[in-house]
Amino acid sequence: MKIISSPLELKNYLKNYNCSIGFVPTMGALHEGHISLIKKAKEQNEVVVVSIFLNPTQFLKGEDLDKYPKKDEADKKICELSGVDILFFPQVSDMYGVDEVTLLAPKVRGYVLEGSSRPSHFNGVLTVVMKLLNIVNPTRAYFGKKDAQQLNLIFLMVKQLFMDVEIVPVDTVREKDALALSSRNVFLTEHQREEALKIPSSLRSATAMVTKGVLGYEEITSNMREILSPLEIFYVEILDREFNRLSKVEIGNTIILVEVKVGNTRLLDNIWL
Ligand code: AMP
Repeated sequence: MKIISSPLELKNYLKNYNCSIGFVPTMGALHEGHISLIKKAKEQNEVVVVSIFLNPTQFLKGEDLDKYPKKDEADKKICELSGVDILFFPQVSDMYGVDEVTLLAPKVRGYVLEGSSRPSHFNGVLTVVMKLLNIVNPTRAYFGKKDAQQLNLIFLMVKQLFMDVEIVPVDTVREKDALALSSRNVFLTEHQREEALKIPSSLRSATAMVTKGVLGYEEITSNMREILSPLEIFYVEILDREFNRLSKVEIGNTIILVEVKVGNTRLLDNIWL
């Protein structure tokens, strides 16, 4: 596995490859969720590039940037064992200068849900993803459905800026007890981890209601809020795949999303129906 930290060196290096390139951007502290993105990229492309970059511009002041888990050596091993061809491992100074051009998230879809409590978050996400895509110029780039709003905004960016990359969504990987894998799960105490199971429970209950034919927004979200109580809820939402609010679940076109705070840790999850 080749490890490169300079964007220009990576750009030049990739010019040697006249084949399909799959790209998996991450912030490190890799887990099975990231590995499933890498596996999918390996299945569909001749060369796989992974980036590990803890992007400071998507964290607001006072958020957990300084505390975000860092596991550089373990991450390198995971990438090597997963068959990654090239690991892009830049420093902040490789990616950002002073007086930067930045992208702005769309005024509506960038400021609802996670964007309403983290107002500049998606500007940072879109800017770094744009930079990374310009550096790697991949055939396909892989993103988790767990971060459904991020995925939706990246689809929008690629479409609206006429970019030449296929965005591939990947299903959420869960622990045996259904908690979605997240780099932030390490922050949870044993008790908080138990409390966090209310998230997959609420989504399971929503799915069970839908299976029984209960499709209304009010019934489903109030049942989910009851299950999540007393956790601090940022939102419980029922949206179509374009991120418009649905008053009734439409099978095949619905995402039910939830974000809560457990202790000091924000956890988000969703289910696609
Ligand atoms: P992160 O390192 O948290 O920025 O995540 C990098 C990529 O992995 C993003 O596209 C995430 O959506 C995706 N991802 C994170 N957790 C999971 C999971 N449990 N299952 C599948 N993909 C995930």
